[in-house]
Amino acid sequence: MEDQEKMEDTCRLCDEVTDKMYSVFESTEEGFEVLQMIKECMPIVIYRTDPLSKQVCESCYNHLGALYTFKKAALETADRQKSKLKETIELAGECKEIELFLKCGDVPVSFILNCYLKDLQFAAVVSF
Ligand SMILES: [Zn+2]
Repeated sequence: MEDQEKMEDTCRLCDEVTDKMYSVFESTEEGFEVLQMIKECMPIVIYRTDPLSKQVCESCYNHLGALYTFKKAALETADRQKSKLKETIELAGECKEIELFLKCGDVPVSFILNCYLKDLQFAAVVSF
């Protein structure tokens, strides 16, 4: 029983206890729920009803905020670069590889692999 109580008090991400702990259901100053940031940045699933801790320590809270901000900025950069690339091919004409690359973000990976494999088979047929 003591172990269970202790587990509920420790950080869900590092198992430490600090003076200031945050609930995973709490929202940050920017309005993001801690649980949402964990879902988007970590390969960890937290259920409201699971028996593990629903708290994160201040250090993990800060890491999570930085990671979330970094991920968001990187995705915005990718979108911006893809938009620029799109404009470039609209001006320069068709380019199959670039069009395929631009579609990558919108389709499942299996579809991309199938396209790639088809292209490889096509290339193999052409080379003989
Ligand atoms: Zn922690």
